[in-house]
Amino acid sequence: MKPATPGTPSSSRNNTMAQFFSTHPSRADNFSESVIREMTRLSLKHNAINLAQGFPDFPCPAELKAAACEAVNEDYNQYAITWGAQDLREALAARVKQFNGMTFDPQAEITVTCGSTEAMMASMLAIIQPGDEVIVPEPFYENYGPDAQISGAVPRYVHLADDFSIDEEAWKSAFNKKTRAIILNTPNNPTGKVFSKKELAFIADLCIDNNVIAITDEIYEHILYDGRKHVSIGALDGMHDRTITIGSFSKTYSVTGWRVGYALAGKEITARLRKIHDFLTVGAPAPLQHACVAALHLPESYYRELAREYDRKRHILFDGLKNAGFSCELPEGAYYIFTDIAGFGMSDTEFARYLVEKAGIAAVPGSSFYHEGGETKLRFTFSKKDETLVEACRRLETLNSR
Ligand code: GLN
Repeated sequence: MKPATPGTPSSSRNNTMAQFFSTHPSRADNFSESVIREMTRLSLKHNAINLAQGFPDFPCPAELKAAACEAVNEDYNQYAITWGAQDLREALAARVKQFNGMTFDPQAEITVTCGSTEAMMASMLAIIQPGDEVIVPEPFYENYGPDAQISGAVPRYVHLADDFSIDEEAWKSAFNKKTRAIILNTPNNPTGKVFSKKELAFIADLCIDNNVIAITDEIYEHILYDGRKHVSIGALDGMHDRTITIGSFSKTYSVTGWRVGYALAGKEITARLRKIHDFLTVGAPAPLQHACVAALHLPESYYRELAREYDRKRHILFDGLKNAGFSCELPEGAYYIFTDIAGFGMSDTEFARYLVEKAGIAAVPGSSFYHEGGETKLRFTFSKKDETLVEACRRLETLNSR
C-alpha cells in the first residue's frame, strides 16, 4: 500500500466519488436531460423520421449560405464584440422597429446570444435571486423548467385551459410579493397558441401593477396562420423597460444549428444581461453573426412565403394525424401539433417509445411540457419537407391496422 502523504489522515484515503456525490448535491440533480433532444437521439438510433425536435430537414435560404461562406473567407473568424457585432445589432434594431414596433438602441439595448436558449438563461440569471418566483404558463417549452432550476427561481405554474384561454382570476392570484418575472412564449410551443393583443394587455397590466418583468420568447414570430398578427408585449404601453424580448434566427431562417439569437431590453436590464452573457459564452459565432445581417435584408416576400409553406405543411400533418386517430386542433402559430392520445391506451412515454421503435416516427411525450401531467399528450413538428411529412403520415396510418 502506498504510504499516506504526511499530514493526511489515513481515513481520508478511503474517500470515494460516490461519497462526494451523495453529500454534495448539485443544481443539475434537480432536472433531467432534455426529452426533446433525447428523442432526436432515439430517432437516429431507430432510423426514424424525427418529428420530435423542432428543426427543418430542408436547406436554409441560399443567401444565408453564401453570406456565411463569405464571412469565413473574409476572416470574420475571431470574437465579435461580446454583446454582438455592431452591424448585426444595427440591422436588428431596424428590423424590430419595423416588424415589432419597438425601438431599441443597438449600443445599449440589444444583446446577441447563442440562440434563444442562452438568451432565456441569461435573462433569468440577470434578474432572479434564488427564491424569487417566476410565473410559467403551462404547458410550457421544456427548457423553462431547468432554466428556473439553474437560476434558483421558484416556478409558479398557471394553467392554460383546454382551449388555451387565460383564466384571468387564476393568473391574477399567481402574482405575489416574490414574483419577479413571467415567462411568455407566443406563438407558443407546444400548443400553437398565439396570444392576442387583449390577452397581452391584461398580462402587461399585471406586470406593471406587480412590478414584474415579462420575459417573452417570440422565436416563432413569423410563423402564424389564418391571417393572425404577431403582437410583442414589449411594444405595449409601459412595457419597454420591463420586458425582455427574445428572438432568434433559428426558426425564421431555418438555421437552428447556427446558434444565433438575441435579447432586447431596456438599458438597465441589458447592462446586467450582458455581464451574464459575457461570462457564459463570450459571444455567438462571429462569421454567422455576419451572415445573419444578410438574413435581415431578405425581402418581405420571404416572410410571407415562410408562413405559406408552413401552412401547407401544417395541413399535411394535421390530416395525417386525424386519419390515424389522433385528436388534435390546427395550431394558430409555430410549427407543432399538440395531440391528445387518450384513445390509444398508452401513456405518452410508452406511446412515444412505441412510435419510434415500431412505426419509425419520433415525437415528444407531452409530460415534458408540464411540471405535472401531460401523459395524454404527444407533440409532433411539421418543420419538414413535404415528402418527409407524407411518408410520416403513411407510417402513422399503419397504426390503424396494427
Ligand atoms: N425548440 C425546438 C423544439 O421544441 C428545439 C429546441 C432545441 O432542442 N434547442 O423542439
